[in-house]
Amino acid sequence: MLSERVKKIKPSPTLAIDSKAKAMKASGIDVISFGVGEPDFDTPDNIKEAAIKAMKDGFTKYTAVGGIDALKDAIIDKLNKDNGLSYKREEIIVSVGAKHSLYNIAQALYGPGDEVIIPSPYWVSYPDQVLLNDATPVFVKTYEADSFMLKPEALEKYVTKKTKALILNSPSNPTGLTYDKKAIENIAEIALKHNFYVVSDEIYEKLVYDRFEHVSIASLSKEMQAKTIVVNGLSKSHAMTGWRIGYAAGPADIIRAMTNIQSQSTSNPASISQKAAIEALTGPQDFIGMMLEEFDKRRRYLVAGLNSIDGMSCIMPTGAFYAFPNTSKIYGRKFMVKAISSSSDLAIYLLEEAKVALVHGEAFGDDNYIRLSYATSMNDIKRGVERIKEAVGRLEI
Ligand SMILES: *Cc1c(COP(=O)(O)O)cnc(C)c1O
Repeated sequence: MLSERVKKIKPSPTLAIDSKAKAMKASGIDVISFGVGEPDFDTPDNIKEAAIKAMKDGFTKYTAVGGIDALKDAIIDKLNKDNGLSYKREEIIVSVGAKHSLYNIAQALYGPGDEVIIPSPYWVSYPDQVLLNDATPVFVKTYEADSFMLKPEALEKYVTKKTKALILNSPSNPTGLTYDKKAIENIAEIALKHNFYVVSDEIYEKLVYDRFEHVSIASLSKEMQAKTIVVNGLSKSHAMTGWRIGYAAGPADIIRAMTNIQSQSTSNPASISQKAAIEALTGPQDFIGMMLEEFDKRRRYLVAGLNSIDGMSCIMPTGAFYAFPNTSKIYGRKFMVKAISSSSDLAIYLLEEAKVALVHGEAFGDDNYIRLSYATSMNDIKRGVERIKEAVGRLEI
């Protein structure tokens, strides 16, 4: 018999779509994938070299559970330089990806009777990590008209005595939207007033457009820093998804608890990846600018393309690498007498009929949308948009 806990969760739907698209590809079908949430760029060479050097030097043994000091110091410098935050080593933990840091936080902070507020649409793992720790996810809907930013009035309505934390994600996956400083300040005010934690997932911090300035909620005041756990990592900023390095910065007691949990589960993140991460953080950063410039071109092209499709409308994302078009006007249209009546129907239709993989918005808590990742080549984006347009055009109104 499996545990009660495991019955509450489902496998990550984004990974599920990706594996179906990969299986179709493997059988020879030309599938264009907008499904994946990882940069299509290769990890920069200087980072790979650092890993090779680590291996050659024999840096291949267990390390300190929460990461080596040199990496913690590189993270401390980064948080200082980029975010104006100051931390000590005991306030930093390096984990096996940012997802793992988030999971350690969930284990360290959430439990039975706790409520964790999650603005919706949300990243797929947030609710399940809360559920796995026997706490209750509380969803607060955000709206396209507000650029999917959580309104303070809406947040405050859902705060109770049981509220343990709010999970904030800016730039956001799946919406591609960013919180400006004012919006962050409004949320901080409520967090301090009601004394709950903010788990701030800043993994897309570097991927922002039109000179948007990312502000970490922890940087607003010392009081707010004490109530925030900042989560970040190298997967998205340095095209290092497979290396599995993420980190969290927060109050020493929480970081200590997370480190203890990590010591009883995974132990340290790979020693080799840690050396590579030091190079990623302290070496040349021009890779990010190059990647961003490319993403920016694709973003504009994709959003314009989606907006040219009858029944779709897409606001311009300001961060990350996702477009999140509203597809609700398409629902009700028919394909061979069968109505497309949800984001999931539409995603399946597009995969089967247009050979285009993308993720249904329902997986992120909003059925009126679909998510397309533009971390794929410009050529595929052009072909993909044509295919979607053609397939949507074939539906009977
Ligand atoms: C990709 C992603 C992560 C996790 O990345 P790791 O590869 O585990 O470091 C965390 N949060 C969001 C919103 C993401 O999209």
